[in-house]
Amino acid sequence: MPPENLIDYLQPRAVERFLRYVALDSTADPESGRHPSSEGQLALGALLADELKQLGLLDIEHDAYGYVYAVLPGRHAKSSLSLTFCAHLDTSPSVSGAHVRPVVHRSYDGGPIHFPDDPDLRLTPAESPELLKFTGSDIITAAGRTLLGADDKAGLAAIMTALEALQHFKDWPHPELRIVFTPDEEISQGTAFIQRAKLGDIGYTIDGGEMGELETECFHALKAVLTFHGMNVHPGYAKNRMVNAGTLAARFIAGLPAAEAPEHTEGREGFFHVTSLSGNESQATVEMILRDFDAARNRRREKLLQQMSASFETATPGLTIDLRVSEQYRNMHEVLARHPDVARKGQAAIEAAGIPVINKAIRGGTDGAHLCFMGLPTPNLFAGGLLFHSRKEWIPVIALAKSPQVILTLCRLWAEDPPPLAASPAAA
Ligand SMILES: [Zn+2]
Repeated sequence: MPPENLIDYLQPRAVERFLRYVALDSTADPESGRHPSSEGQLALGALLADELKQLGLLDIEHDAYGYVYAVLPGRHAKSSLSLTFCAHLDTSPSVSGAHVRPVVHRSYDGGPIHFPDDPDLRLTPAESPELLKFTGSDIITAAGRTLLGADDKAGLAAIMTALEALQHFKDWPHPELRIVFTPDEEISQGTAFIQRAKLGDIGYTIDGGEMGELETECFHALKAVLTFHGMNVHPGYAKNRMVNAGTLAARFIAGLPAAEAPEHTEGREGFFHVTSLSGNESQATVEMILRDFDAARNRRREKLLQQMSASFETATPGLTIDLRVSEQYRNMHEVLARHPDVARKGQAAIEAAGIPVINKAIRGGTDGAHLCFMGLPTPNLFAGGLLFHSRKEWIPVIALAKSPQVILTLCRLWAEDPPPLAASPAAA
């Protein structure tokens, strides 16, 4: 049974870790071409590997790609199932993560929050209504010049604090735990070099937003690259000869369904999103991403691009369009629906912490989506932060304690009630 004072034990430890981790700059660098993309991630990984060792974990590896792996053998567990908890080391390159100075705002009063390093910056309940759920509570932000890095250092702190608690509360049951901290999640490389064999049978990423979030769905994601091949001649002698690839590419984009764009969609609606357009008369390239929760509906978008390409070629002799579509990731619900116990236990663990469960479909991707299709059913649990990737990013202090509490409860639930896992080699 959980000790009465569990939150009192977890909160100061999680906060201390969190404040330490955010001070280390681990911003991902999409331009570096290296793996991991930045030195700071290696430094943070080394620190965590060292702390895992101090906590008594085994088989600790900090590999050349920046991944950190560690194992904690099971205790008082009824099954040989192993459970993975995952968080990412990097922060988003969209806002500076250098010299993060966290500020603890004591007993939030419901009004605007001010930032010491930028007097013009204000965080108000109008733009983040969740603030009002935490009046009277302590809230952490950065000082105004940087992001905070709760995404995902709150996840790192939660996992580390839960492991510390398992060493302290010796009777607490848990299956074998396989911990992984990943680099470069923010630049879509989080699982690019992951060693699947080091992970367990079931996983949870601790990388969601508001306290209570449980995410079992993400986008089905396609990338499309269209290359328009035209014909350039001197504009003074171009009649009936020139085929202007650049203007045709622009017209093609204008022909896409106007309402199916990110700026006009929300909830479960999908979209076409043009991310890049470049070229001249001879050749032009359009890059876009196609997103939907339903794979068939997303494939309809691919089909529309094929049909539009054919009709443009027919309408303009001399034009050829080369269309390449590749799959980026799939909706993890396809996998999680076959393992309902994974989300069910996630839900039960959140409820046991006295938090209302917020079921959300991620309008984006997650490491868990890739892990699901690598054979590791992995929903995403809250880490507690809000307004990610912004200078106004904030987290309520209580979330830093509730997150490790949920992890500890999951440990107990999986240790006491092993699942019927047909697909898992461990259960075979
Ligand atoms: Zn994240």
